[in-house]
Amino acid sequence: MKYVDEFRDKERIKLLADNIRATLDPDREYRFMEVCGTHTMAIARFGLKHILPENIKLLSGPGCPVCVTPTSYIDKAASYAEMADTIIATFGDMMKVPGSRTSLEKVRSERGNVKSVYSTIDALKLASENPDKRIIFLGVGFETTAPTIAAAIKEAKTRGVSNFFVLCGHKIMPPALEALLKDKDVMLDGFILPAHVSAIIGSRPYGFISKEYNMACAITGFEPLDIMQGIYMLIKQLTDKDPKIDIQYNRVVKPSGNKLAQAILKEVFETVDSEWRGLGTIPGSGLAIRKKFSSIDAEKNFKIPPIKSTGKDKGCICGEVLKGIKTPGDCRLFGKACTPERPVGPCMVSSEGSCSAEYLYK
Ligand code: SF4
Repeated sequence: MKYVDEFRDKERIKLLADNIRATLDPDREYRFMEVCGTHTMAIARFGLKHILPENIKLLSGPGCPVCVTPTSYIDKAASYAEMADTIIATFGDMMKVPGSRTSLEKVRSERGNVKSVYSTIDALKLASENPDKRIIFLGVGFETTAPTIAAAIKEAKTRGVSNFFVLCGHKIMPPALEALLKDKDVMLDGFILPAHVSAIIGSRPYGFISKEYNMACAITGFEPLDIMQGIYMLIKQLTDKDPKIDIQYNRVVKPSGNKLAQAILKEVFETVDSEWRGLGTIPGSGLAIRKKFSSIDAEKNFKIPPIKSTGKDKGCICGEVLKGIKTPGDCRLFGKACTPERPVGPCMVSSEGSCSAEYLYK
């Protein structure tokens, strides 16, 4: 298939739904978690939950970069934004996420020094255009975005850009999946694994999920037919008692991933323990800038007063939603006090958040 319409062909989708229905055990429940915000949006947008049999439950996991970024990171970014002669450069979704005492959007309205950028190239450009200011770029996201930030860090160092810095909050996915599997409250039968992340890391780093936890896994693309086929693969693995890492999205993802991207990640970053919203601190799940590039590391160059971050936002249950323990509909604020226009928690802020997806497409 070459064209996007073919991946949205209703007859083919219906055929796959029939195959899923014919393969599954009608007397049991299947709980599958997608761990990519783009999958969350696609599942909601194309109404896939309504096409599937009722005993298949699709749950959203910690796959939206903005949603998993903890309050402590937002608080730090806001404190940097309050320093003199500083511009914060960030992807737009981060603006509205509430911190303990303020949000970047609020700081922007007060001081006008928080800029939304589309790429690290824009952030580097901002640094050249404002030589008398320090530019602090908010590096958040998973293995998908981290290589581009790594490339910008290398470029800034090579070109000797002395006013470009990164506040590094990058996270890596496999340790977070293991943390979910070890959590007694999280009940799952399989993962719809993230496609973009997998294009970088390949399928091999997930091997432990099927080997040690007997969990079905499929790396799927983002079109309805991709996701339905991925779900069929999960059902088939469980029916055959043969858990493994299937690659449905093989037009992009290879078992060994993208070696060039992996090399630049390794050169610029090292793995560290990292705090995730809702999941706590997970060993080896974050990236920090290596010493060699410390001149670009905002935290190594600027001291801010200690911050006491508060955990929960006014009844927001994003933490439980990110673990698949609760759904957006379980939140008493959903669609009332919390809407995309006036979000209370990050899952309603990000266009990839599960609350936002549920609200937009319900
Ligand atoms: S609806 Fe809003 S308040 Fe409730 S969990 Fe989602 S983001 Fe948090």
